Amino acid sequence: MHAEDMNKEFRMNSPALITWQQKAISAGHLAAACGTALGAVAFVAGSPYVVTAAAALVGLDWYTRSKRDNDAFKRLEGIVQSGALDVASQQRLTGIVDEYSQRALLKQPVRIVSMSASDKEMLPEFRESLLETYPSRLIVIDKDFANTLSDPQLRAGLAHEIVHVADDAATTKVIADKITKFGIYVAVGGVITTALSLNIPATAIATLFFGAITLSNVAIQASLARHGEYVADRGSVLLARDPGAAISGLSELKKFAESKKPTKTDLDTPLSSNPRFSFFNKLGVALLRPHLTDAARSRFMFKVAKQYNIDS
Ligand SMILES: [Zn+2]
Repeated sequence: MHAEDMNKEFRMNSPALITWQQKAISAGHLAAACGTALGAVAFVAGSPYVVTAAAALVGLDWYTRSKRDNDAFKRLEGIVQSGALDVASQQRLTGIVDEYSQRALLKQPVRIVSMSASDKEMLPEFRESLLETYPSRLIVIDKDFANTLSDPQLRAGLAHEIVHVADDAATTKVIADKITKFGIYVAVGGVITTALSLNIPATAIATLFFGAITLSNVAIQASLARHGEYVADRGSVLLARDPGAAISGLSELKKFAESKKPTKTDLDTPLSSNPRFSFFNKLGVALLRPHLTDAARSRFMFKVAKQYNIDS
């Protein structure tokens, strides 16, 4: 079937990749983030400087992140065009990514770059993960890892990443993330100013509040991340229609990660895109885990396949 016909058929016969329930969950995160951020502000109500500084930090975070992503994207384009990266090995990947980004109705094109360890040395901002999505519509895959995957495994994995791009653009999710960070900064600033005042009992209470606010904010961020993985796994099943390949691809990922020298790669959940949370992943506290276990993902994907009558 012609690619354009396939896309049309997909849009007519498939449910939305991001459902209204998923949007409602993002909105719930937003509400929870607002609640804890308000708690943090109330806690330091006497220190308008702390609140102002926290707001400035979030603004700076927002600005530098998008600037860094854009700069890296431009440099990467330059390197690809200069021929330093193996463009031929990417053709297999580009076809799949183009097809799925069209079906996912992404407004901006998604670029995929397959990199070797030495390519990564030229672009240190790309982390050591084997397969990772960057917010600015960029997917980076380890070249050697891509070569170990069968076509169906590659399709399922890339479909998952494409849905991350679609989901990460969701306004409620972006705002919930920024408000959560704001709450954490206010709480940190609050405990520092209280500690500086050297009033011991007040410091103890402040630390307690700080702990509660920070923990609930970390829980919101972890929950946002888990939610994103469910959305991406569901989308992978709908786009690639092959949950078996998605699951065997996950075990290939684990095998490949373990065969490499231990690096910053998160061996527990190598598909993860957020190493900031690896500490909480290791703690094993379900509510604070940003990622899902392979077993949970496998159960979930087979359930989705059954729901939509997809052979698995
Ligand atoms: Zn993911």
